[in-house]
Amino acid sequence: MSLSNLHIKGKRVLVRVDFNVPLDENFKVQDDTRIRKALPTLKYLLEGGASVVLMSHLGRPKGVIQELSLCHIVPKLEELLGLSVKFAKDCVGDTALDITQSLKPGEVALLENLRFHNEEKEGDEFFAGQLAESGDIYVNDAFGTAHRAHASTSIIARFFPVDKAFGLLLQGEIDALSKVMSDPASPLLAIIGGAKVSSKLAILESLVNKVDRLMIGGGMAYTFVLARGGNVGNSLVEENMVPRARDILKKAEEKGVEVFLPVDSVIADKFSDDAKTQSCSTDDIPDGWMGLDIGPDSANKFAEVVRKSKTILWNGPMGVFEIEKFSNGTFTVANALKEATDIGGYTLIGGGDSVAAINAANLSDQVSYVSTGGGAMLEYLEGKVLPAIAAMAE
Ligand code: AMP
Repeated sequence: MSLSNLHIKGKRVLVRVDFNVPLDENFKVQDDTRIRKALPTLKYLLEGGASVVLMSHLGRPKGVIQELSLCHIVPKLEELLGLSVKFAKDCVGDTALDITQSLKPGEVALLENLRFHNEEKEGDEFFAGQLAESGDIYVNDAFGTAHRAHASTSIIARFFPVDKAFGLLLQGEIDALSKVMSDPASPLLAIIGGAKVSSKLAILESLVNKVDRLMIGGGMAYTFVLARGGNVGNSLVEENMVPRARDILKKAEEKGVEVFLPVDSVIADKFSDDAKTQSCSTDDIPDGWMGLDIGPDSANKFAEVVRKSKTILWNGPMGVFEIEKFSNGTFTVANALKEATDIGGYTLIGGGDSVAAINAANLSDQVSYVSTGGGAMLEYLEGKVLPAIAAMAE
């Protein structure tokens, strides 16, 4: 059911949001992107005459940890909504119900961190039922946790046989991803970077069946360079992943998928901003040196391929972009994505670090879609059924 088909007037709508935002040392919200992204759904509900009960997790608490209380985000939420927000010091039981059952249309309540109860991550059905008592309607707008079968993201849906829907943000994420996967304009290019080689090989294994072009950068690339016989010095590699990397390269060749690996790298004698650096061929990195960015020739080549592709998916930076001297590859690719968008390409960016890079380059509103999900996006692209999405159809 879509949000627009629900009769929300006078109803309490329980919304699973992703307010897992970074806090500074004074417990102030450091980056409010995730809260802002939830606003369209919240405004839609409030303007439609509903009251809104918000639930989210924050961090990874084991038990109740005051530092990870969602009370810290109330001031920012109030500022962005322009409304006062009632805070329930527990997400279930009388503490929650005293507040949520007396909410009036136009009012907003926020429940305490769901993960203060272990039952949330365990997907406990009784706990999900307790949460469900706080709403007449269930809306899920948290894409970042859509790949988890937690109580509030998936199990709870069964307590709302009819009155449930995706929020506008989650629906937008699904639309953007399915545009890339079901009906992409070709050539379709996937750019995969970052450092988590083992977790990203699964997506490469799946993408190689779908894309026309595969670009591999970041720490990921060196396992592939090793697989094709290069010398990677002290660069990041997962040697036990070399056979899988080799299989991916072989599959790509069989399928006619063009693979782009960095031809050169910016290498450093240590992982630090005061490291000595130089550029060299990615296949000939001397011992004692590590590749921390794609080199200038690779950055230019990658940018050219990006501009010549029609649908582009990007997950993972091209280098250690947090350190300026290793950021050129990532920012060159980010700029090329903007240019590809300008000339009519469809560009989708996901994953915490690529999103941070596109934000740092001030380009997030100049690409087609910036996803709020890292793991969820990767699992969707692998072709896995996400529990939160499946639960809505049950
Ligand atoms: P991931 O979470 O897998 O997307 O990885 C992101 C992280 O990979 C960032 O913090 C980057 O600094 C790091 N990274 C990118 N390139 C390299 C590299 N060549 N060597 C080590 N770490 C890297």
